[in-house]
Amino acid sequence: MNRVRLIIFNAALGPLDYKVPEGMAVEFGSVVVAPLGPRQIIGVVWDPERLPADEVPEAKLRPILEILPVPPLRPELRRLIEWTADYYCAPLASVARMVLSSGGAMRGPSTMTEYRLTGGMPERMTPQREIAMELLEGEQATIRELAEIAGVSDGVLRGLVGQGVLEPVQVDIDRPYPRADAGHATVDLSAEQKKVSDILVAAVKAGTFAPYLLDGVTGSGKTETYFEPMAAALENDRQVLVLLPEIALTEAFLRRFEQRFGAPPIVWHSSLKSTERRRAWRAIASGEAQVVVGARSALFLPYANLGLIVVDEAHETSFKQDDGVRYNARDVAVMRARFEKIPVVLASATPALESLQMAESGIYEKLDLPSRFGGATLPSIATIDLTEQKPERGRWLAPELVEALTDRLEKGEQSLLFLNRRGYAPLTLCRNCGFRFQCPNCSAWLVEHRFSQRLSCHHCGHETHPPDTCPECGEPDCLVACGPGVERIADEVSEILPGARVAVVTSDTLNSPEKAAEFVAQAEAKEIDVIVGTQLVTKGFHFPELTLVGVVDADLGLEGGDLRAAERTYQQVAQVAGRAGRGSKPGEVLIQTRHTDAPVIAALAAGDRDAFYEAETEARRSAGAPPFGRWAAIIVSSEDENEAKEAARAIGGSQPRVEDVMILGPAPAPMALLRGRYRYRLLINARRSAQVQDVIRKWLGGLQFPRGVRIAVDIDPYSFV
Ligand code: ADP
Ligand code: ZN
Repeated sequence: MNRVRLIIFNAALGPLDYKVPEGMAVEFGSVVVAPLGPRQIIGVVWDPERLPADEVPEAKLRPILEILPVPPLRPELRRLIEWTADYYCAPLASVARMVLSSGGAMRGPSTMTEYRLTGGMPERMTPQREIAMELLEGEQATIRELAEIAGVSDGVLRGLVGQGVLEPVQVDIDRPYPRADAGHATVDLSAEQKKVSDILVAAVKAGTFAPYLLDGVTGSGKTETYFEPMAAALENDRQVLVLLPEIALTEAFLRRFEQRFGAPPIVWHSSLKSTERRRAWRAIASGEAQVVVGARSALFLPYANLGLIVVDEAHETSFKQDDGVRYNARDVAVMRARFEKIPVVLASATPALESLQMAESGIYEKLDLPSRFGGATLPSIATIDLTEQKPERGRWLAPELVEALTDRLEKGEQSLLFLNRRGYAPLTLCRNCGFRFQCPNCSAWLVEHRFSQRLSCHHCGHETHPPDTCPECGEPDCLVACGPGVERIADEVSEILPGARVAVVTSDTLNSPEKAAEFVAQAEAKEIDVIVGTQLVTKGFHFPELTLVGVVDADLGLEGGDLRAAERTYQQVAQVAGRAGRGSKPGEVLIQTRHTDAPVIAALAAGDRDAFYEAETEARRSAGAPPFGRWAAIIVSSEDENEAKEAARAIGGSQPRVEDVMILGPAPAPMALLRGRYRYRLLINARRSAQVQDVIRKWLGGLQFPRGVRIAVDIDPYSFV
């Protein structure tokens, strides 16, 4: 090739052609550095026939500068990038960037310098030095990363290096990972599990595209079951990708994986250190990495020879990314498997309606694990009608639930209370004048966090200290907390059961793998009597002594009123119920609600999953909602309210008339202000067969907006705020 077309890492620019210097061996997929104006930019060599661009005369082409030392992106991955960009209306460059997500992996030496404490003391101690030395105990990382951990400037740490308090260590970044052994510690599967795993193992060996929906009740041993096809892939020297919805869950997964395969898998998530990132990226691209466990971003890595993808807890909405490229990792995982011609397993105890529908129509094969492993029974479920059984004033737990908690504590068994609200109280107001604390950047109340003594916004992170007097009327000591969060429930438990050891489990308290591991160890050692947690505790955990689950407010999720509210409530409550009675002792679940006859609550209480899914399916069908029709959203935002409004109006005014496509709005978004930006939304509802993406591209492609306006297109949206 003497002329190539590149996707360059600038989302605003389309593909550009370049000249290939004499003797440089580029191929499709090569990652290269090219000049762009006075700068240099990374690009990927693309198949020109798939990427129309303006024809530039030979003489005007500038030469590529160098090929980066990484394997070229394989055609399967290039097709996935194209598909993702096309389907989600995103720039190719933005999708390609998710593949090349480790700058360090592209170049540089294979060793690097990290620093660690020597144990020595500086000649002169300063407060900053003291704090840094305390926080860096046991850490080893680059100066930049250590500075971040310690919350001090690079300069402070360089000073400590000069004093011999920190010492440099040369690390081989790309040192090999321990090998997983397919036969390390095999388990005997139950007959039910074996049937499923045999099918999956055969699919891995066959090496063709095959999507499976693994529908297994909580505690049925889905993990053990999909470990077998993973082992089969390892034996064939094929890589495996396991996607998990939350980093907090990886900890438990890592331990189980290591028990079974004798070595930990490779972990991938957004908060890896740059060296870990580079090492993992290169091992994945070279094929050395055997099993990768990660959050959704692991999906776009350049696997050399992928043999199987597993999406665990596949119903989870966190697989949907809500900024940048707004993709759904569950759906893209299936597409990736298709391009790679390999099996993909979507595992869940409460599959998404979309996935069930795919199974129904024969596109996915459904595999069932209908009973718990080892003879454990599913818990009994009952509702507590809060309109009849009122908690005491200022309290949130009804007498029946309090009684059940007391009983478990006396028996030495564990309980779990679920409330999907972080902090102490969702709203703080002034008793005197009614003033409510609101976020200055978002249409949202500030949430009181009593542990950290802050009022904080859960959308933008804005924080203040609760003042002593009302900012509006100046009255002292007049602020009241309204409504419960998990911290408040934990206080209530401590008051009712003074002897109980209570743990609050949220993303605030379990914010690192170490803390997650510590929590699991404490719960397993029975050092915790009552766990009070958000959706973080609804899945993955396996505590045999946990026999009572209380759902503090099952109506909470239904209030939002978005398309999937009922489904999400069903999934969350069924998942958290699944934490009870996983050992030899039977479990009990008590659901507090004001709507005992709401279909979703009634189905939960009756343990009638099919009834719920049937009713929900009918409701969606008649509303033309997914999976029967499709939704898309256009979100217009600007820091200037008027500008956002005008842009939204311009979009609304030029809306196309297309058969089978209905356009609603523009209207102010429910979150009309978010992170300082004013927001308007248009919603598009279309038949499945309509080419929504083409309609949107054509529609928006003809419009021009001021610089400050951002237009985001969200295909198959999950968030309607
Ligand atoms: P699920 O993910 O379906 O909720 P898990 O995979 O967590 O279920 O399994 C529940 C528990 O049963 C785990 O502790 C797991 O180790 C155990 N288990 C499941 N299957 C087997 C098996 N075949 N042999 C031994 N233990 C098993
Ligand atoms: Zn905010």
